[in-house]
Amino acid sequence: MVRPLRVAVVGSGPSGMYAASELVSDGQAEVDVFDRLPVPFGLVRYGVAPDHFSIRSIRDTLDRIWDQPGIRFIGNVTVGTDVQVAELREAYDAVILTYGASADRLLGIPGESLTGCVGATDFVAWYCGHPDANRDFFESYLPTVSHAAVIGLGNVAVDVARILAKTAEELHATDMPVHVRKTLAAMALTDIHILGRRGPAHATWTTKELRELGELENCAMEVDPIGLESEAAWSTDQRVATRNVEVVRSWMDRPASSGRKLHLHFLTRPIAVAGTNQVSMVQVERTAFTQSGGLASTGEVLDLPVEFLVRSIGYRGTGLPGVAFNDDSGTVVQNEGRIEPGLYAAGWIKRGPSGIIGTNKKDASETVATLLADVQAGGLPTSTNEIDELLSSRNLEAVTIAGWRAIDRAERELGTQFGIDRMTISDRASMIEISTLG
Ligand code: NAP
Repeated sequence: MVRPLRVAVVGSGPSGMYAASELVSDGQAEVDVFDRLPVPFGLVRYGVAPDHFSIRSIRDTLDRIWDQPGIRFIGNVTVGTDVQVAELREAYDAVILTYGASADRLLGIPGESLTGCVGATDFVAWYCGHPDANRDFFESYLPTVSHAAVIGLGNVAVDVARILAKTAEELHATDMPVHVRKTLAAMALTDIHILGRRGPAHATWTTKELRELGELENCAMEVDPIGLESEAAWSTDQRVATRNVEVVRSWMDRPASSGRKLHLHFLTRPIAVAGTNQVSMVQVERTAFTQSGGLASTGEVLDLPVEFLVRSIGYRGTGLPGVAFNDDSGTVVQNEGRIEPGLYAAGWIKRGPSGIIGTNKKDASETVATLLADVQAGGLPTSTNEIDELLSSRNLEAVTIAGWRAIDRAERELGTQFGIDRMTISDRASMIEISTLG
């Protein structure tokens, strides 16, 4: 009898789970899904905003994939450290890299490394209860902040601004850990600025997410009118652009109200961050469109007092030893998902940080089709090693599906104590300990 194909998937976010599901669906393959964290689902757990309940519920759909025969979870094992890609390639017929884009892009301006200037990945990870988040920093620093700014006009910038702007009551039903709730509630925040170097018509945020900013309970919108006029030109989708501009314009006619203020600034880019030991100011300059749609400096400079500055200018992937990587794009070098026969990629590490969660299904399908075509053509190298022996020889505390299910149960039980569906457990040692009960 011909044995099933053996595939390792590296990363249990949506693209990895969709690829694994497709491979095991008709019994054609056995798949091991690796993740460096003790829990699966990547950005669905640690990136999607905790108050976006319906998007977060995709977890339940992904969770059902574990019920299919032929799939295993190997959590708490880091590929590139605990086990190398080359070793996986010896143990499996094929390896699919789906580990996403977890690094921040930098602005490249003076003062960016000052305390209080952080990447969105760090802040988002912290408020989602990521075990590697810098808890000490956020818990001690945020309560000292009264003015914050977010750079970028994408959906992540909107998430960050909204989470900062919401009241404790508005965040109550989320699965945020207690330390996150307490810290956010302790912030004496008065002003949040969103800074975009182009206009609202060129923003990458989606209209639904943008509208939510106007629905905040205790936060007034303040729109700087500069840049609103440049709306129509150079936007890629005129229909979406027009809608987004309309939403922003509608906020201009609102009567002033009390509470926090969320300021929207367009044609504004940061040129320096300043402060003594920590950020106290971001210096911004007005930009203007050139005739061809590029951005030019106007020389007009403004100092904005802020103690907390979040770069939300996009994520980028990082390379793994032995895998062809393009440093400019922060993605692996691939064609239709094939890096080379036997080694594939899907999701953000393949195409860059773009699209919605569903985009990863189509993307993973393309990669699986390429892999299966290589199998058909007899083009895969033969695997020679046993992964279980290799992993057990390294004394790793790998988490299985049963282990994840134990953590899942514990999070739901913890949630009932607070009258919510679940509360994220963020401490890695606790997660590992609970997983052994599974
Ligand atoms: P993004 O959509 O690429 O937005 C990045 C923003 O940063 C853009 O406004 C960009 O402006 C700006 N930017 C880039 N370099 C800059 C610089 N040097 N100075 C100033 N501004 C700069 O990235 P993202 O917000 O991180 O989102 C990543 C992906 O996740 C997107 O596909 C997004 O839709 C998705 N996502 C979706 C949701 C949701 O559906 N609810 C939530 C979160 C994230 P320019 O346009 O001028 O370059």
